[in-house]
Amino acid sequence: MSSNIAEIEQSPMEPPSLLGVQNHSVYSDISFPVGMRFAVEKELPPAFAISERSDAFRRRFYPEVNLKTWCDWHWQYANRITSLEQLGTMLSLSPDELDAGTGLAALPFAVTPYYAAQFDPANPADPLRRTMVPTTAEWDLNPGESADPLGEDGHSPVPGLVHRYPDRVLFLATDACSAYCRYCTRSRRVGKPGSTSTVRKRWPAAIEYIENHPEVRDVLISGGDPLTMSDAALDHLLSRLRRIPHIEIIRIGSKAPIVMPQRITPSLLRVLRRYHPLLMSIHCTHPGELTPEATEALGRLADAGIPLGSQTVLLKGINDDVPTMTKLMQGLLKTRVRPYYLYHCDPVQGSAHFRTHIFKGVDIVRGMRGHTTGYAIPTYVVDAPGGGGKIPLMPDYVQGYDGEDLVLRNYEGNLYRSYDPAAPAAHECGDCGKGCSGCNGGSSC
Ligand code: SF4
Repeated sequence: MSSNIAEIEQSPMEPPSLLGVQNHSVYSDISFPVGMRFAVEKELPPAFAISERSDAFRRRFYPEVNLKTWCDWHWQYANRITSLEQLGTMLSLSPDELDAGTGLAALPFAVTPYYAAQFDPANPADPLRRTMVPTTAEWDLNPGESADPLGEDGHSPVPGLVHRYPDRVLFLATDACSAYCRYCTRSRRVGKPGSTSTVRKRWPAAIEYIENHPEVRDVLISGGDPLTMSDAALDHLLSRLRRIPHIEIIRIGSKAPIVMPQRITPSLLRVLRRYHPLLMSIHCTHPGELTPEATEALGRLADAGIPLGSQTVLLKGINDDVPTMTKLMQGLLKTRVRPYYLYHCDPVQGSAHFRTHIFKGVDIVRGMRGHTTGYAIPTYVVDAPGGGGKIPLMPDYVQGYDGEDLVLRNYEGNLYRSYDPAAPAAHECGDCGKGCSGCNGGSSC
């Protein structure tokens, strides 16, 4: 393996556009039976799971692409659908989606053929489609919004590195993604043309900064999506970080297992296995993303001993109700992904149509607690604008003290008393003037 970043190249891509795309405006007449099959055409070795739905899409719009090629992440990445004109040959675009193609949005449009296959071709309100297909609402700058809502640039000691918390850093290893989420917090920087070589030039200074800061024990590699990089580039970066004695854990944040699950290849897993303890945060938004393909990708990562956590953004009309969120979190657990964070949608420019009221997330978590296993309940956080970090918001189950009893409300709304004579708030406080019976445990005093 080379130690020189400049020598690292992306893995060779298949030539783009192997096929002519047929001009069908809709394919809603196709029925997509639920189920899965494997790429087992006689002359080809099994490569990856492919659902009946994905396979029907492949046969209709990419008839010259065989199963092996479809299951190759290089092909998926090189053949991303990057124009609404092309997407319009595969599904019926709404007038607003068509208009959005004429305006300037901060974020480019791109989606893998695999992920496009999961869209409802006839319904612009389809949750997966809404997260990826631009609309004119993105043109608006709404109150409270900005290009860098988390103030990352102000906490960046060297380009491509964010140091906001005492013991960990965010390493922005790439600005590329295999698909661009319309609510992306980093829409100011991701997907800009020709940025790969520029980004790689930032790595040495970022690594040197980490080497010179022994208080940093945890590096989160993000971007962009680090799994758009080649195995060789990842191997190089991980090996450099692992050589730093004070780095205890390395984390990777990625949506690739969801939008390009074919990326989780045996050779990638061989690389990742070398750098334990290595954890991965999976960006997943809706239960419809947990396809047979995504399930296989996540299973492969889990089998490689990589602890998996989920990161989900709360999105209006997409996952902002208890049944959808519960189904998503239970589905993630079934694929061995531990629900981790549920984020209030950051106020990035043009995202108001995705943002719920802040307390919607509290209500959803409250609606889940007690009704499903505790492992399935994520921590709801607001990432404080300006760089204050993640602030958890939880339902309040504490009603206050009554004498030496702490009064608690359970998930059904029933009140219970827990004898708690040793609590300092019950005996020593009184500054609030309400006496112990009005105290909520100290926070209001
Ligand atoms: S995968 Fe992550 S970095 Fe890429 S567009 Fe989506 S939210 Fe942004």
